[in-house]
Amino acid sequence: MASVTLENVKKVYDDSFIAVQDVNLKIKNGEFVVLVGPSGCGKSTTLRMIAGLEDISEGKVFIDDLLVNKIEANERDIAMVFQSYALYPHMNVLENIQFGIRIRGKDRELCEETALEAANVLGLEQYLGRYPKQLSGGQRQRVALGRSIVRNAKVILMDEPLSNLDAELRAKMRVELRRIHNKYKNTTIYVTHDQTEAMTMADRIVVMDKGFIQQVNTPIELYNNPINKFVAGFIGLPTMNFMDVKIKNNILTTSTGDSFKLTDQYEDEEYILGIRPSDVSLKEVESSLKIKLTSDFTEIHGSGNITRGIYSNNDFNFMSQNYYEINEEVELFVPLSKAYLFNTETEVRVNLKLK
Ligand code: ATP
Repeated sequence: MASVTLENVKKVYDDSFIAVQDVNLKIKNGEFVVLVGPSGCGKSTTLRMIAGLEDISEGKVFIDDLLVNKIEANERDIAMVFQSYALYPHMNVLENIQFGIRIRGKDRELCEETALEAANVLGLEQYLGRYPKQLSGGQRQRVALGRSIVRNAKVILMDEPLSNLDAELRAKMRVELRRIHNKYKNTTIYVTHDQTEAMTMADRIVVMDKGFIQQVNTPIELYNNPINKFVAGFIGLPTMNFMDVKIKNNILTTSTGDSFKLTDQYEDEEYILGIRPSDVSLKEVESSLKIKLTSDFTEIHGSGNITRGIYSNNDFNFMSQNYYEINEEVELFVPLSKAYLFNTETEVRVNLKLK
C-alpha cells in the first residue's frame, strides 16, 4: 500500500483540449478516495494519468515518494478495475483470481491460498470452478475485484466499476466494496459520476468540474459545507433547490415577490439562495421565508415522499410524508438558518447568517 500525490497536474490532449488542470491532491496510505463529477469533468483522465495509461502534460505524480511520471504503467504496481471487467473466458473463477499473482512468479500454493481467501470474502466460494460466461454481472465484477485485491498492489484504481450492474446489485456491491476495503485497507482511488456511490463509500470525496477540483473533503463535510453552488447542487439527494433573491433595506425578496424582513443589517446585494429539500418545512418555523408551490407530482419513496414543482422559474422539491395531487397548491416555509447563499456571479458560497 502507498500514498499517491498529485502536484499541479495538467492534461492537454493532442487537439489542445485541456481536460485536467491545477490538480493538487494527496491521497493517504490506505485511504478510499472517490473522484466524482459530471461526464467529461476529467476524472477518468486523472485516474489514467495515475495509472500511467495517459501522459502527464504538466505537474508531478508520486506513488509514496517515487516520482512516476516517466515510469511505465506495468511498473507502477497498480491494479485497475474498469467498467468492462475483462476476465479470461477460458479460466475458471479461481484461476482468474489467481492470475494476477501467478504471473508475478509467486509460489503456486501460496497463490491458491490467497485467492481462496479473497474468494471467501467476496462470497465466491461456491463458484470457484465456474467460467465467466456462467456467472452473473455482479459475480463477474467480484472476480475482477478479487484479481486486483490478491495482487496486493500498492494502489487499486477503479473506473466506474459498478455501472454495468442493475440498481439493486449496485447498492449491494457498494456495501461489499466498502467491507472489503475495511478488511484489506488497500489505497483505493475510485471514479464515478454517481454522487450516491461517492457519499456512501468514500473516506474523502474529490468533486471535479470542467477539469478542475472544486472541493475535497469527507462526505458529511461536503454535504454540510459546500464551497460553491456546483458542489452544493452535486452532493446530496434530492438535489438542493436554488432561487434568485435580493436583499434590499434588510428585506430578502425572491423574484416571485415573496419576502422576509431580516433582523440584522445586511448590504444590499443579489444572491442565489439554496435550500435542501429535506430542510423545507410544512409548518411555520422560526425565521422562515413563506412561499407557495404548485405541485407537479409527488414521487412516493415510502420513507419520505418528494414533491416536485416550479418556484421562481426553477425546479423546487421538498420532502414530506404527504402525497400532493397535480396542481395542488402547497404553502411551504424555507428556514433561513438552514439556507445557503451563493454569490450570483462567481457562485461561491457566502457565509452570511440570515435571521
Ligand atoms: P465520463 O464520466 O464521461 O467518462 P470523465 O470525467 O471521466 O467523463 P474524461 O474521460 O476524463 O472525463 O474526459 C475529460 C475530457 O477530455 C472530456 O471532455 C473528453 O471529451 C476529453 N478527452 C478525453 N480523451 C480525449 C482525447 N484522447 N483527445 C481529446 N480529448 C479527450
